[in-house]
Amino acid sequence: MATTADDGLADRFTITGTGLELSAEQTGLLNLAEELGVSFGRRAARYDQEAGFPFENYDDMRRAGLLKLCVPRPYGGLGSDLFTYALVSATLGKHCGATALTFNMHACSSLWLGLLADALDMTAAQRAEHEKYRALHFRRIVEEGAVYAQSFSESTASAAGKAPFGTTATKVEGGWLLNGKKIFASLSGAADYYGVLCTEARPGAEAPSMRDSLYIAIPKEAPGFTIVGDWDPLGMRGTVSRTLLLNDVFVADSGQMMPRGIYHQAATRWPHMFATLSPTYMGISVAAYEFTIRYLRGEIEDLGPTVKRRMYPTKQIATAQMHILLEQTRSLFLRSFSEARIDPPKEMRLRAYAAHYTIMENANEISRLAIRTCGGQSMLKSLPLERLYRDSRCGSLMLPWTAELCLDRIGREALYESGEADD
Ligand SMILES: Cc1cc2nc3c(=O)[nH]c(=O)nc-3n(C[C@H](O)[C@H](O)[C@H](O)COP(=O)(O)OP(=O)(O)OC[C@H]3O[C@@H](n4cnc5c(N)ncnc54)[C@H](O)[C@@H]3O)c2cc1C
Repeated sequence: MATTADDGLADRFTITGTGLELSAEQTGLLNLAEELGVSFGRRAARYDQEAGFPFENYDDMRRAGLLKLCVPRPYGGLGSDLFTYALVSATLGKHCGATALTFNMHACSSLWLGLLADALDMTAAQRAEHEKYRALHFRRIVEEGAVYAQSFSESTASAAGKAPFGTTATKVEGGWLLNGKKIFASLSGAADYYGVLCTEARPGAEAPSMRDSLYIAIPKEAPGFTIVGDWDPLGMRGTVSRTLLLNDVFVADSGQMMPRGIYHQAATRWPHMFATLSPTYMGISVAAYEFTIRYLRGEIEDLGPTVKRRMYPTKQIATAQMHILLEQTRSLFLRSFSEARIDPPKEMRLRAYAAHYTIMENANEISRLAIRTCGGQSMLKSLPLERLYRDSRCGSLMLPWTAELCLDRIGREALYESGEADD
């Protein structure tokens, strides 16, 4: 977005706002994300128009060391926790939603293998196996700058967390044979490895079980692995989220990203692991709000001579409504990510759903209000607002925590304690 030179408003449009205590390291990372974000913002319209992947942004992040954000320090990464990840991701999201959303898939692959897995119960043998395999995945990210996609969605109830994954992994000598289909795989054609959630096919087992979920990284060049389908969606066009077909794809044992049974434990004990899509949309909310303030102040240079519109009471009321929505959203965002932990008490789990719902729904509401308030010129393709509006629409559709399923979970879990049922 073209604006006037630094005018003292900048602090108000950071993700945290002013006054939140951050470590020197967090401040450094957020400054870096803002710095990179300037180029991301400039390129965003082109990627959106072409529905093309933002390779240049990934080159920039690789050079700046950001691709290893959530790789633990002993493995050469930056060792960021969930809260720091959320702040960085939201800051990227302010500048380019598609980059932030795909960065989620990549960064959270290492977050799951690192910080999340460290807190899970494993036998000594499982821990040793995990150490051996994750060292390989981390080395690829740290030394080779490899990018990991994270693919769990299928056209079944599995992505909602209600059924076993239909994609299967059969144990064979030295590895696994994978078969199935994944939809909406962001980073299609851009990732070096595709972390796929699947179910271990156990000969003789009565029925597939969610406990047998496996998380396995397929190298992009693996025989039998193909990417199909077109990609021409409403929003988040730069994510390039196409369909993956797996036809007897052999992956060596070392491709395992978690030992058998551990993904299911993570999914049941670490609810915040499914909240990591939302920071992108927190960023979009801040961007839509910032645009509106600058627009009404007559500071959008792309529109030519300055026209201020801030003196109209209706604009002031709309701005106040957006501001209130933004502060509500930001408060829940900061609170929920700052308390993310394994086995959170019920109240925190419900707050995580409430935060996720609020961020996803309010991103679209704030963007909608921004367009209505700024008016006709603001929705021209030459300005970012219409893209923010389209991108913001996608958040509450994303499984496993769609807006509907957040309501579903909050309603049920608020009214029933564990094990309770009605006659
Ligand atoms: C831009 C974008 C990028 C994406 N990137 C990825 C990615 O990288 N990796 C990945 O794995 N996925 C990704 N997804 C997929 C996403 O998480 C969803 O899985 C996908 O949007 C599924 O949509 P659907 O309408 O086919 O879901 P459906 O399963 O058809 O569900 C439709 C709606 O019904 C409701 N619903 C579904 N199941 C239930 C149930 N059991 N009970 C009650 N209600 C239910 C939900 O609210 C849902 O919104 C991406 C999606 C988008 C839009």
